Amino acid sequence: MSTNSVCWNCQNIIPPNVFLCQKCNKIQPPKQVNEFKLLGISEEFDLDLEELEDAYLKLQQLFHPDKYSQLSEKEIKYSTLLSSMINEAYQKLNSSISRASVLLQLKGINSHPEDSSFNDSQVLEEVMEIQNEFLEAEDSEQKKISIQKLNSRITETIDDLSISFKKQDYEIAKKLNIKLSYLEKIKVNFKKQL
Ligand SMILES: [Zn+2]
Repeated sequence: MSTNSVCWNCQNIIPPNVFLCQKCNKIQPPKQVNEFKLLGISEEFDLDLEELEDAYLKLQQLFHPDKYSQLSEKEIKYSTLLSSMINEAYQKLNSSISRASVLLQLKGINSHPEDSSFNDSQVLEEVMEIQNEFLEAEDSEQKKISIQKLNSRITETIDDLSISFKKQDYEIAKKLNIKLSYLEKIKVNFKKQL
């Protein structure tokens, strides 16, 4: 929730998404905030990944275990919690698929890319076609071409996903995200067979 809290040490007011008391500099207990807010990044699909990494590294430095030696038990606990929350948020936002899922969830759309009830025949056919082409490839050269095609399909899907978020077309975004997760999965399989 985006509400103020009070510093456990000096009773100073702590605004939402702030982790250190501005008056006494003590670490505050972690609050429930979404991954974007936690990292201080705007809630968008199109992220500047370098900016994301900078935000992450900056925060991670604040709660680095090296600082623990000077901290009380309470502060170590908060610090450890925050550090792992920040880590997890960064991993999630750094991947297109999980970033889209986080965004969809924020829009109230339950999206698990592994949704087994997914039966969009057009998408499934497309995926199958790519898979067959790879299986029928006769040498590693052809397999590499097939992977290149798959890569451009992945790029296209990410572009489409970005457009659908901009248009606030979340049902389409959900579908595209499932497609993307299928494509990424077969990419992993293809690479194993190279
Ligand atoms: Zn304080």
